[in-house]
Amino acid sequence: MTACRICGGDLVEFYDFGRQPLSDAFHKPGQFQDEFFFRLAVGLCTDCTMVQLMEEVPRDKMFHEDYPYYSSGSAVMRKHFELTARRFIETELTGPAPFAVEIGSNDGIMLKTIADAGIKHLGVEPSGGVAELSRSKGVRVLNEFFQESTAVEIAATDGQADVIFSANTICHIPYLDSIFKGVDALLKPNGVFVFEDPYLGEIVRRTSFDQIYDEHYYFFTARSVQSMANRYGFELVDVERLPVHGGETRYTIARQGARTPSPAVAEMIAEENERGLATLPTLEGFGENVTKIKDDLVALLTKLKAEGKTVAAYGATAKSATVANLCGLSTDLVSYVCDTTPQKQNRVSPGTHIPVRPAEAFHEDTPDYALLFAWNHAEEIMAKEKAFRDGGGKWILYVPEVHVV
Ligand SMILES: [Zn+2]
Repeated sequence: MTACRICGGDLVEFYDFGRQPLSDAFHKPGQFQDEFFFRLAVGLCTDCTMVQLMEEVPRDKMFHEDYPYYSSGSAVMRKHFELTARRFIETELTGPAPFAVEIGSNDGIMLKTIADAGIKHLGVEPSGGVAELSRSKGVRVLNEFFQESTAVEIAATDGQADVIFSANTICHIPYLDSIFKGVDALLKPNGVFVFEDPYLGEIVRRTSFDQIYDEHYYFFTARSVQSMANRYGFELVDVERLPVHGGETRYTIARQGARTPSPAVAEMIAEENERGLATLPTLEGFGENVTKIKDDLVALLTKLKAEGKTVAAYGATAKSATVANLCGLSTDLVSYVCDTTPQKQNRVSPGTHIPVRPAEAFHEDTPDYALLFAWNHAEEIMAKEKAFRDGGGKWILYVPEVHVV
């Protein structure tokens, strides 16, 4: 594919991560003969500046019954979404019959606060396991993919929404055409469509290349989101930088002319243009930094192995698939990866087949060095595992460059 999914413009590839597995496909030991691989490469649209994957992975392969990511696993994320919900309740859900919809509501982490406040809501979540869990918390969920037809159905049965929210989902969806048409059908005239996703500006600044994996199809900037919104009769009216997941931006979109855009929008776009953020020279420079991290990490792990040190990884995150497969990290260099998600335990990591062990393994079979795959939760994890460093253990981080702490 060489045409932009948003505008049909020319898509120019700037980095190839090579053969990569599905980032959330944790197979049972010895049962990975049919493992699915694809070529993970990123390109820039030279017309609308949208950065996107060159190849698309079928969505049913990614967001299935056993999708193993539970948002509520992190206390920081629970707090973040509770505050998000409270702000919607105070600023957007104040009319006579307020209604909030969330696209990709996961385990109900955000909607639970809205449900507890007695406000009408609906989550649209394709993964059965997490949808079921949110129902047990009193959250109303439609177990489907959000697309134009779903939105039309919801509008017909429940009426239009004041807020359509989505966190870490819109960037997952290649067919944004259907999403925007769906939002158009479902949103009240003065309603807002609010979504937050990893920010390209932060990925480039920190070389956090592991944000690039099968599930992240687009890498947004204020400029590319504004251009996309305009195509569908909407406009970007606010932007807000968020510290979560290694640096995200929350975009607020309204119907054209419905709201006065905040000065933050023009400021962010001016800053992006000044940096030359979505230009080939900048993105090719990013690619060079990725290659350097890869070479440095492999060199460090090879040296530690030669010195007889033990290395385990911490956090079998979806994004760890990119770094593990790019660097070819097998049990040779990393003996196991520990993770608190039961659905991943006693399985092997995607592509590189490193055994996934429960969190307790880290205390029973403590390594000399721990490669922190979940680096976006570094502060929370290092505080929780204080005893590891007190006992002489060392953390290896690879963003923004390879370093040991
Ligand atoms: Zn484009």
